[in-house]
Amino acid sequence: MNWKVPFFSMALGDRERIAVQDVLDSNWLTMGPFTERFEKAFAHASGQSEIHAVALSSCTAALHLAFLALDIGPGDEVLCPSLTFVASANAIRYTGATPVFIDIRSEDDWTLDPDDVLTKITKRTRAVLAVHYGGYSCRMNALLDVARDRGLKVVEDSAHSLFAEAEDGQVLGTMGDIGCFSFFSNKNMTTGEGGMALTRNGELAERIRLLRSHGMTSSTLKRHKGHASGYDVVALGYNYRIDEIRAAIGIAQLEALDANNARRKSRVEQYRVLLKERLPLVVVPFGRYRGRPSYHIFPILLPDGVDRETTAGELTASGIQTSVHYRPVHTFAEYACYPASVSKTDRLAGRILTLPLFPSMGEPDIHTVVDALALCLTS
Ligand SMILES: *Cc1c(COP(=O)(O)O)cnc(C)c1O
Repeated sequence: MNWKVPFFSMALGDRERIAVQDVLDSNWLTMGPFTERFEKAFAHASGQSEIHAVALSSCTAALHLAFLALDIGPGDEVLCPSLTFVASANAIRYTGATPVFIDIRSEDDWTLDPDDVLTKITKRTRAVLAVHYGGYSCRMNALLDVARDRGLKVVEDSAHSLFAEAEDGQVLGTMGDIGCFSFFSNKNMTTGEGGMALTRNGELAERIRLLRSHGMTSSTLKRHKGHASGYDVVALGYNYRIDEIRAAIGIAQLEALDANNARRKSRVEQYRVLLKERLPLVVVPFGRYRGRPSYHIFPILLPDGVDRETTAGELTASGIQTSVHYRPVHTFAEYACYPASVSKTDRLAGRILTLPLFPSMGEPDIHTVVDALALCLTS
């Protein structure tokens, strides 16, 4: 398909090309010095001084290891939103624990509702997964208060929030016990596939490092350099490693992140102004958000009664690619035996449509999208 405006497009260039070349020239591909540099650069970019970063093969791997490091397992319940990517809930299930779905706050704020969290805590609840939908912060202070009172762990799914700030200026992904970030192709920065775990707790970081590579006590690089000759296996680990090519691309992408986020911001501001003017019945969420988002995606709510599939089909016909963030997890066949009482999520899910957003979009692209949408909604 030759899109007039695709849903997303990566911002890759010379910096990434040179980074990959540097790795090839180094003659070392699995985790090594570039991975260590990427972890240091990421921790630094989070703006926190005492924080550990562990690079992983994906955010899904980061979430899985975060729950394992927090000793979550069979018989435990973890609270998480239904309006999220399925990986959030899957990662809970990998540990043997059960996801319990939490509703969104309102039509304006699609992050999980701390009041609903309170009603769904049971004797088995061990943790909350705070998904910062779209790069907008969950009510972290309320969630952290509940977690402290009830002895729960807080994992942040920060796949969307590279690097966003809450209303009080705190950086998303650094407030809970562990923050998990994604570098999948359509995220704010990419390594193709990749992820990162951030934590202030050195023991948790060490645990995640161990589980990342088979529970082995020494790495291939250390043995290669002669710093270690053997190893023990002290935990049931996984192969969730990143590699040097991705780490090097990650370093390059990190350098461009602020500039790319600033471009996303201008496009979002243009969308908001144009939609308010031309299509006042379209709801744009997070209109009252006072923090600094990462502008990961641009979801809207179509007016009540408008058929989403027809609208998306008409936009496709005019060369505009859209998506849906998200079909609620509890509505998937695989989740049929995880009943959810999330009436606000259910009410708005069928109206969600995500419009194109990426750093290299120009102002004319925003007009093209809004013109086409106006044509669908007024004809
Ligand atoms: C993309 C995404 C993930 C998974 O990230 P991967 O790096 O692809 O594993 C998890 N949660 C949310 C909310 C996401 O958007």
